[in-house]
This record gives sequence, structure tokens and C-alpha cells, in this order.
Amino acid sequence: MAKQRRNSKQREVVLEELRNMKTHPTAAELHDVVRERLPRISLGTVYRNLELLAGGGLVRKLEHGGGRARFDGDLEQHLHVVCVACGGVEDVAGTPADVNANDLATPDGYQIFGLRVEFSGLCPDCARRVSQEKIDQLRKNLQNNH
Ligand SMILES: [Zn+2]
Ligand SMILES: [Zn+2]
Repeated sequence: MAKQRRNSKQREVVLEELRNMKTHPTAAELHDVVRERLPRISLGTVYRNLELLAGGGLVRKLEHGGGRARFDGDLEQHLHVVCVACGGVEDVAGTPADVNANDLATPDGYQIFGLRVEFSGLCPDCARRVSQEKIDQLRKNLQNNH
């Protein structure tokens, strides 16, 4: 019973701190913050709680091809821009334009549940840090992927 109480307390703190953050932290970044309130909580516990919360639809898990998963406590529909250099994620005001799935040439048998729109770019910090040559290369890689 004591263990159960501790578990739900941990989950509560993880959720609260994530909701306070606008940075879309990774589990490790959130762990650093949660530890200020629960000094003994492990990274594994934070990660497990994030997975549970995401599974329950209380937080959004953001997986941007290859990078570490990031988490978003803001469930309002909004768009993201992902920095191609550091993987940082920021909110973009607006919602995806409505697309009528019936108009798309979707493969037979597929059920379309939604559309994910995401911007790729370079955050101001990386723009200062990264050479123009590197920026051109990142941009080219990205265009080749689409
Ligand atoms: Zn960046
Ligand atoms: Zn967001």
C-alpha cells in the first residue's frame, strides 16, 4: 500500500513538472527537474511513468525519427517545429489544415486516423553555433528525405 502511494505520488510529480515545461523535455531532462522534488527517483522510474502517462493519453510522446523521445504535457492541438541540429522542439501556433482523407489516394484497406504535420528547422541557438556549410548540408539531407 505504501508502495502504491509512492508510485502515484511519483506519477503526479512527473505529470505536474512536465506540464510546467514548455521545452518538450526528454525523460533525462525531466528527470533532472523532478529530482529537485523527489531526490531519490531514478531515470527509469521517470521514463516508465512517462510511458504510462502517454499510454493513458495524459501526455504526448513525440518521436522525431531517430532522436530520443520527447514529451509534451500540452494536449491542446498544436504544431511543432523540430530543430534538425539539436532535436529541440518548440510549439508553433496553429492547427493542421483540414485534409479530407477521402480525397487522398490511400492504399486499399488503410484506415486513416489523422494527419501529423511537423516543421523542420534550425533553432536560434544552433543557428549561432553551426557553420553555414553545416546548415546547407542539413537542409540538403532533409530535402532528399522528402
Ligand atoms: Zn537546435
Ligand atoms: Zn508542444
